[in-house]
Amino acid sequence: MARIELNEIAHSYMAKPKGESDYALKRIHNVWDDGSAFALLGPSGCGKTTLLNIISGLITPSKGRVLYDGKDVTELPPEKRNIAQVFQFPVLYDTMSVFNNLAFPLRNRGIHETQVKKRVLEVAEALDLTPFLNMRAAGLAADAKQKISLGRGLVRSNVAAILFDEPLTVIDPQMKWDLRRKLKEIHEQLMQTFIYVTHDQVEALTFADQVGVMFEGEIVQIGSPQDLFEKPEHRFVGYFIGSPGMNFLECTLEGNVARVDGAGIVLDEQIAAKGHRARGKLELGIRPIYLEIHAESANGMVPADVRAVEDLGSYKIVTLTLAGKTLKANLPEDQPVPEGQVWLGFPPQWTKLFADGWLIK
Ligand code: ATP
Repeated sequence: MARIELNEIAHSYMAKPKGESDYALKRIHNVWDDGSAFALLGPSGCGKTTLLNIISGLITPSKGRVLYDGKDVTELPPEKRNIAQVFQFPVLYDTMSVFNNLAFPLRNRGIHETQVKKRVLEVAEALDLTPFLNMRAAGLAADAKQKISLGRGLVRSNVAAILFDEPLTVIDPQMKWDLRRKLKEIHEQLMQTFIYVTHDQVEALTFADQVGVMFEGEIVQIGSPQDLFEKPEHRFVGYFIGSPGMNFLECTLEGNVARVDGAGIVLDEQIAAKGHRARGKLELGIRPIYLEIHAESANGMVPADVRAVEDLGSYKIVTLTLAGKTLKANLPEDQPVPEGQVWLGFPPQWTKLFADGWLIK
């Protein structure tokens, strides 16, 4: 197990990068504590795999250093870093039995056969592979093969870190749920450093204690699932986490009131005061779950029009327009939604202000 430090990392795939846009990773500067479960979450092309490959040693970064427990490993290849990796698609020996596939990383390192057996049986049990141990991997379904790949990643108990690159892509949705939970349980038992790359927010938020959200080659926020939901530090985190994502409205400030065309929305006084000093485009943001919908007007509410109501069984998503902008509200199943004009309440503690995309705190 290791504490992993990424020190001023940047990476370009070009031989002679000129501007910032030539860099797949712009600036990554983080410490990942020993024994934690981390997820790197972001859309396709944001640089997740590049970063994972820098951590594993498949790529040497253009700039910066990678330290494992304070030791500089930037130039070391993966086989010298004592890590295990699990990729998107199964990596195993088709002609070997499941047992021998799981045993391979241990036997390869000269571990005593008694210890190999003990560890393989433990990992097989954790991943529900025990009934398949004597079968050849070739005959198994894609998801069972990927479980073997996971097992091969988990079987060595003394690795510095286990790196997972979208490991549940080939697993069917129901089994994904089970496997995510299993991986979390296994992490809680082993307390190894797990780094898990995914574009799927549910996967990241259920698996990890800390999630790093990546956007255009940077980690814009690292936080617990609750932090990312309640205190998104960048508008991208607000937009990407949650379903639907956070609502954003461009605004100007008058005292502690945010003006969205004709409408005035009251903000927390301290945040508004900082907003007056901030530079760049101002936007207010509110999560759909915190937007209140009322049939009657009351102090501080603003008028909006209901455009659509989607009933998703256990809750409703209401689409509204306010000053020509579209907003979404997430309401409990049993709350009636008036037709036509309604009044929106923006609770100040949940109404955030962003300047040029960054949260004003
Ligand atoms: P995905 O989920 O689609 O794999 P990602 O977040 O993992 O995306 P990366 O694969 O790290 O992103 O890619 C980051 C950027 O670097 C993208 O613009 C991509 O086109 C570019 N890139 C990745 N690999 C290479 C390469 N070998 N040569 C040149 N450019 C590359």
